[in-house]
Amino acid sequence: MPCSAASPVPGALSRRSFLRLAAGASTLAGLPILTEAHLALAQLPKFGDSSRGIHIDANENPMGPSEAARQAMIDIIPRGGRYLFDREDDLAETFAKIEGLSPDMVMTYPGSSEPLHHTVLTFTDKSRPLVIADPGYEAPVWAAAVSGAPVIKVPLADPWGIATHDLKAMISAASNPGVIYICNPNNPTGTSTPRAEIEYAVANASKGTILLIDEAYIHLSDTPSTLNFVKEGKDVIVLRTFSKLYGMAGIRMGLAIARPDLLKKVATLAGLNPLPITAVAAAKVSLLDKELVPMRKKIIGDIRRETLDWLTSQSYRFTPSETNCFMLDVRRPGKEVIAAMAAKDIYIGRTWPAWPTHVRITVGTRDEMLAFRKAFTEVMSASTAGLVPPAPVRVRPEHTFPRIS
Ligand code: PLP
Repeated sequence: MPCSAASPVPGALSRRSFLRLAAGASTLAGLPILTEAHLALAQLPKFGDSSRGIHIDANENPMGPSEAARQAMIDIIPRGGRYLFDREDDLAETFAKIEGLSPDMVMTYPGSSEPLHHTVLTFTDKSRPLVIADPGYEAPVWAAAVSGAPVIKVPLADPWGIATHDLKAMISAASNPGVIYICNPNNPTGTSTPRAEIEYAVANASKGTILLIDEAYIHLSDTPSTLNFVKEGKDVIVLRTFSKLYGMAGIRMGLAIARPDLLKKVATLAGLNPLPITAVAAAKVSLLDKELVPMRKKIIGDIRRETLDWLTSQSYRFTPSETNCFMLDVRRPGKEVIAAMAAKDIYIGRTWPAWPTHVRITVGTRDEMLAFRKAFTEVMSASTAGLVPPAPVRVRPEHTFPRIS
C-alpha cells in the first residue's frame, strides 16, 4: 500500500513529539521515514543540543567524511546549480563494478532509510507480515505500521551469548511473510549472524518473500556480504549506507541492491528525486579509497575493544559486538541509567522492550569513551537501588511470536 505524503515535521522537538504521537496511532496513514537519529531522539529524556555534551546514542561516526570526501564536496559546489544525474549513474556504476554487479542492480538513495521503509511498504500488507529479530532495528516496524502488516518478532538466538538472528525460527514464524528483515551485523547488538544461517534463510524462505538484508554496519565487521544472492537472482534486497563507516550520516547517501524488477517496485513509491551532488561526489571518492575501510574499521574496533575490556574489568556484561554499538547490561531499568547519564550531558542509546535492563552504547572517539567510563562509574555507584540480578545464561530461548499491528 503506498505511503501518503509524510507531514512536514518542523523542528527537532516536534519531530520527537510526532514519534510519540505515532506510537499510539499505528493506523496513521502516513508515518515519516524514520532513521536511527529519529529513534535515538525519541528516547532521550531531554532534547540534546547536538553541539553540547557527548552523543553516543545514534550509532553515528564522529570522524565524519574522509578528507578526500570533504575535498570532493568542495570541488563540486560550483556546479551546484545543476542536477548532474550522470553523477548518480556513475556512482551506481562505480559500486557495481567494485562488487561485480550489473549497474541496473544498484539504486542510489539519500541514505538507506528510504529504501528500507519503501521495501516494507511494497512487500507487506495486512495478510503478509513483517518478520524481524528482537531486539532489532525498529525502523521496519514503523513502516509496517503504515502498510498495516502484522509484525512477528523472533527473539535473537543465544541472546546472552552471541546474539544472532534465529533464522530457522524466523523462517517458520509465518507461512507467507512479505518481508523477513535481517540486519547483519545487527543493530542494536552489533553481533553477526553466521553465513550458513543466512544461506538457510535464502534457501527456505517462502516463494515471493523478500529477504531484506541490511548491511549498514558490514564495513565495521568481518561478516561476509550477501551481495552474491542478488547476483544469483534471489528474492533478496541488500541495503548499504554511507552513514556508518564512511561518516556521512548528515550528508545522506545509501544504496539498495537487488534484481532490477525488485528495485523498480520499490522505486515506484519514491519517484526519482535528485540527490545532492555533494553527497554523490563524497560517496564516490569514499568507495574508491582502498585505505578507508580497513583504517576506520581498526580505529573504531580498537576503541570498542578498549571500552569492552574496561567494562569486563568492572564485571559488566555486553553483547560481543563487531561494530560501533553494543548492548550493555546495566542490571537495573535501563531508562534510569539513560536519564542519569543525560543529566551529565552524556547521551547514550535507548533500551528495547525485550531487554529493559540493557542500554545501547555507540562507540565514539577515545576521549568520548573515557568520559563515558567516568560518568558511567559515577552513575552506577550513586545507587544500587532497584538492582536486577543478572539474567540466567540461556543457550536458546523459547520462541514466542507476539504480534503487534
Ligand atoms: N539500517 C540500520 C540498521 C541503521 O542502524 C541505520 C542507521 O542507523 C540505517 C539503516 C539507515 O541509515 P541512513 O538512512 O542514515 O542510511
